[in-house]
Amino acid sequence: MTVPGVTAEWNCTRCGSTNRKLVPTGTEQVRDRCVSCRVKHIVRPGDRPVRWEAKLAG
Ligand SMILES: [Zn+2]
Repeated sequence: MTVPGVTAEWNCTRCGSTNRKLVPTGTEQVRDRCVSCRVKHIVRPGDRPVRWEAKLAG
C-alpha cells in the first residue's frame, strides 16, 4: 500500500543545513533532526508547500 506523502524541506537553525523528510499529506507538525548537527527541530508547513519552517525543539 502506498501512502501519499509530501517532502518537508527545512533549514537547520543552528548550522544552516538543508534537511528533507517525507511526511504524510496533511501533516501539520513533525519532529526531525538535522542530518548534519543532529539538533532536534519542530517543523511546520510554511507559506510554500516545499519550504517548511523549523524551530528548535524544546
Ligand atoms: Zn544542523
